[in-house]
Amino acid sequence: MRIHHLNCGTHRPIGGAFFDGKSKGLLGDLCTHCMLIESADGLVLVDTGYGLQDARHASPRRLAYTWPLVLNTLLREEDTALRQVEGLGYSARDVRHIVLTHLDFDHAGGLEDFPEARVHVMEAERDASEHKRRSFVAKQRYRPLMYDEVRDWRTYAGGGEDWFGFQSVRELDGLPPEILMIPLAGHTSGHAGVAINTPDGWLLNAGDAYLNHGQLAPHPHMPLGLRIYERIMATELDNARSNLERLRQLKNEHSGDVDIFCSHDNDDLARLRSASLD
Ligand SMILES: [Zn+2]
Repeated sequence: MRIHHLNCGTHRPIGGAFFDGKSKGLLGDLCTHCMLIESADGLVLVDTGYGLQDARHASPRRLAYTWPLVLNTLLREEDTALRQVEGLGYSARDVRHIVLTHLDFDHAGGLEDFPEARVHVMEAERDASEHKRRSFVAKQRYRPLMYDEVRDWRTYAGGGEDWFGFQSVRELDGLPPEILMIPLAGHTSGHAGVAINTPDGWLLNAGDAYLNHGQLAPHPHMPLGLRIYERIMATELDNARSNLERLRQLKNEHSGDVDIFCSHDNDDLARLRSASLD
């Protein structure tokens, strides 16, 4: 099993360090961290980031103006998962599976670039994206044009076997047993982490369960702008808070067994990229 850590879309919000905690200039720098796994069962993508249609100036029906405006998203074709998969010598058809942390615009934009892939997501997330687009935030975050042509969905209810004190969904249909989903509701109703058992230990992609590595520190902290964004985007605030606390505990008690990262933290991305080159 080989894992590639991809950035499939860069956010450069005006405010700089107000959003990322360290930029010196006016603009922040927040990646969209996706994974490409070369498994025995073919290529597996974990999240897709923004897709080709987004990079080619999507209509507002597809990608609402709201978040890309707030996040000042840089959309380049070469950053799409498809172009990066091709850059590694593969084609779209080689991607057999896509596992989604959730269906937000910045995680699901590339789905239809891989028409042959089976898409795995929590049932509650699929339901929310189809039937619960009532609030302003829900309408803006879930963009049906990004996933209405997906042919092969696999959805999962929560409540599986124990994984370091978390529930897990195992035996994802067609995927190797090393890949699990870990329900982490809060940011959205059906949000999940994706855990991968690698030869070097467990990796947990916590998606948007938190947004900055400082949130898992012994004395938690995060940039104020990001905190405001996180609060606006949280569908279930109590669940978001309790799952964040559980992740802190996991990191505290099992840092030697599980490496946890989130989708939009450049430090996490750089750390994992350099570790995968070792
Ligand atoms: Zn996100």
